[in-house]
Amino acid sequence: MKISLFRPLRAEVLAVCLSLLLVLFFNIPFWQRLYGIVSPLDAHGVKMLGLAFVLVTAFFSLLLQLLVWPKIGKPLLTALLLTTAGVSYFMSQYGVLIDMNMVRNAMQTDGAEVRDLLTVKMVLTVLLLGGLPSLWLWKTPVLYRPPLRELGVRVVALLVSAGVLVAVAMVGYQDFASLFRNNRELRFALTPTNYLQATSSYIKRVTAKPAVLQKVGEDASRTAPWPAGSKPRVLVIVVGETARADHFSLNGYPRQTNPQLARIPGLINYPDTWSCGTETAISVPCMFSALPREKFDADEAKHRENLLDILQRTGIQVAWRDNNSGCKEVCNRVPTEMVFGDKNPAFCADGECFDDILLDGLPQRLKALKGDAVIVLHQKGSHGPAYYKRDPKAYERFTPVCRTSELQKCSRQDIINGFDNTILYTDAILAKTIAALQAEPAVAGGMIYLSDHGESLGENNMYLHATPYLVAPDAQKHIPMVAWFSPAWQQAAGMQQACLQQGSKQRYSQDNLFHSVLGLMGVKTALYEAPLDMFATCRRPG
Ligand SMILES: [Zn+2]
Repeated sequence: MKISLFRPLRAEVLAVCLSLLLVLFFNIPFWQRLYGIVSPLDAHGVKMLGLAFVLVTAFFSLLLQLLVWPKIGKPLLTALLLTTAGVSYFMSQYGVLIDMNMVRNAMQTDGAEVRDLLTVKMVLTVLLLGGLPSLWLWKTPVLYRPPLRELGVRVVALLVSAGVLVAVAMVGYQDFASLFRNNRELRFALTPTNYLQATSSYIKRVTAKPAVLQKVGEDASRTAPWPAGSKPRVLVIVVGETARADHFSLNGYPRQTNPQLARIPGLINYPDTWSCGTETAISVPCMFSALPREKFDADEAKHRENLLDILQRTGIQVAWRDNNSGCKEVCNRVPTEMVFGDKNPAFCADGECFDDILLDGLPQRLKALKGDAVIVLHQKGSHGPAYYKRDPKAYERFTPVCRTSELQKCSRQDIINGFDNTILYTDAILAKTIAALQAEPAVAGGMIYLSDHGESLGENNMYLHATPYLVAPDAQKHIPMVAWFSPAWQQAAGMQQACLQQGSKQRYSQDNLFHSVLGLMGVKTALYEAPLDMFATCRRPG
């Protein structure tokens, strides 16, 4: 008999073959993680790896037995192979896990971010890992029996897969129970189930019946105004992107990444500040929400008013200017300028803009203001993996710099160099923001800067962010925060600089922003909690 690679296969055999293929070649990140957990490899470790192998193969076989049918089988399996190859590449390249938030991220990302991630290596991997098996699949004739008989055989195949699954689960129950309890991230590393499950929960969430906007802080009003004759107060909130607290020289980083902020008199640095999430889509809505991190839900937040709605309701002018990829629904009801796709050659190239575009026109805007205002500037900051694209040439002080999105191609130091240059640039942006406020004599200016989350830069071979919060390293959660208030603001509010400096050493989180801004802007509402207001104890009681 002639043995051929493309010999005809029964459908149920094809399902098992493809399951083995997925387990062995598409799940290297999963096996690496599992190996890391069970090593050093003793007899128990070998048993765990062996049982896991049978368990996962039986599980995939159970799923694939459901897909192999005449006409639809091959297209479905091809789509599965190609997508899974892409996801597998992404996981091994960046050490990331795939959960619903990662899918949300992917759906909300903009064209430029996608271009950063699409590399030649990715295309090649998808073609090799997904394309070759697809080719084999199309050249292999699949033998189907008459419909009823085929159905019967498939039910048996399903029962066998399920039986093996249950048997292995029972043999290794104790071990697997503690393994998965202590390492919940493992299921986010197993593909294709990770992204299939995450996508289905994401679709369920976004197609849920449209919720009515939940009003928040309807009782809000302005409290006692500043002394007669005071200038209007203008607070600029700079929402950072992917900046790490421990890469700010203000926080003791040995490289001088904050040369300009360090020279600003009265700047207040908060070295112990923590994010609400590990990704933009959670942290940004969370920091503007009245809810603390423990009670915050990103999907509910979409239909819930936030700090900006409350400020606007009391007559404060609110504006949001965005060089990121949008405001994650936070700015839906306030005046907004999305400048990230701008073509202004002074700041932008290849569809992306440097953060200087956020400051374009700021002096004129400050001059035109009538009354108190809160302006939010949403940075592109240190968004990876293409750190080298974030800062103009003049800020490329730490070299050599990794010049590709394929971080694995670069040394860790070159990646860190690229990242540190983005911090140096953010330092300049913040200093320019303060300078613009100082330059406008008609307003009392203040600025608060905080990053949305941090970034892994190769610690434990982990890169980027969006790791599930519970298991995320501090690098993704410890964020920089600074504040500055003009002498006019401090005088009018009766704020004591020494007190502000003293209070800055406490532990803070993004939960503090909501209450601190209400306090600063003199807004009274039952939602306000003075203990969460970072400035309350340093201010003349109002
Ligand atoms: Zn972010």
